[in-house]
Amino acid sequence: MQPKKNIVHLPVYKPGKPMEEVKRELGLTEVIKLASNENPFGSSPKVKEAILSLLDQTSIYPDGGAVDLTKAVADHFGVETNQVIFGAGSDEIILMLARAFFVPGDETIMATPTFPQYKHNAEIEGAVCIEVPCIDGFQDLKGMLAKVNERTKIIWLCNPNNPTGTMHSHQEVVDFINAVPPHVLIVLDEAYAEYNVSGEYPDSIGLIKQYKNVISLRTFSKIYGLASLRIGYGIGHPDVIKSINQVREPFNTTSFAQKAALAALADEQFIEDCRQANAAGIKYLSAQFDQMKLNYYPAHGNFIMVDVERPGGQVFEAMLRKGVIVRHDPGWGMPTMLRVTVGSQEQNEKFIRALQETLEEVAVIA
Ligand SMILES: *Cc1c(COP(=O)(O)O)cnc(C)c1O
Repeated sequence: MQPKKNIVHLPVYKPGKPMEEVKRELGLTEVIKLASNENPFGSSPKVKEAILSLLDQTSIYPDGGAVDLTKAVADHFGVETNQVIFGAGSDEIILMLARAFFVPGDETIMATPTFPQYKHNAEIEGAVCIEVPCIDGFQDLKGMLAKVNERTKIIWLCNPNNPTGTMHSHQEVVDFINAVPPHVLIVLDEAYAEYNVSGEYPDSIGLIKQYKNVISLRTFSKIYGLASLRIGYGIGHPDVIKSINQVREPFNTTSFAQKAALAALADEQFIEDCRQANAAGIKYLSAQFDQMKLNYYPAHGNFIMVDVERPGGQVFEAMLRKGVIVRHDPGWGMPTMLRVTVGSQEQNEKFIRALQETLEEVAVIA
């Protein structure tokens, strides 16, 4: 038995540490997880009702085409239903894009660090990944453009970029799209779009109407608080959506996820409250970092990347012992950076206390 050559080197995905495991291993009773950009406020109360309403229908296959939800999302954005596709999280849309578009030897361009699933799925399909280093936490749009050639199939733009949190404005994205030849698909991964309060965030839905080669990826996992249900979507040109549909598994999203997403989409007040609380959390954390004289990147999602000027792995472990799970990944190539999810005010304060104690304990890198 031989798996295909291009997957044998792939790492198995390492998720943020589960809370129960941390409690057990370290004998802690109270642990907060600010590692996976989950919504600290859960989801709309309407979601629970929606899920309960389906409890006696577990034996029935879901609507594979997610007709009701497709209609609701299309109406929400003012697009046609043939411009919307759902996946088991936007992770699955990324997988389906790779499956539908790449043949071995194709090239694909992305930043580093960025969301790891672009590279992961591209390599599974045998595509060649061209990784362009971020500059001061920003994706190097010029550098990415310089790598485009006739073999380029997809460019991945993560906006705001996970893990750095930085954003590119509407005008920057328009200029970028205008410079990319039409044979290249531009994927705008906008998992955190709903958190944006900058006033400069790209009108990607407007851009999709104008450019055939642009698709926006969105998710119900972040501000909508449905990460456990696995549901995300793509909005793009009908031809691109059709190609993704051709490789989609027949029942890729569950009835529970579809119904919950419908309820979550309708509760606009919940989303507005979460957006405001997150903006206040970013202000609070930024001010605390300023006081502690720590540098951080301007944050436009529900997470901040901060330079703790000490080995990130050691700081991560020390924070863990204090019951605070954050994120550090050696694969970022940023050895002193931590990524912290914006929590509730109480969680943010606990995080700051733990960080202050930790910085006393762990030596600065000379
Ligand atoms: C969280 C995240 C996703 C995917 O989340 P799903 O749960 O699969 O919908 C996609 N892109 C980025 C940048 C993310 O941070």
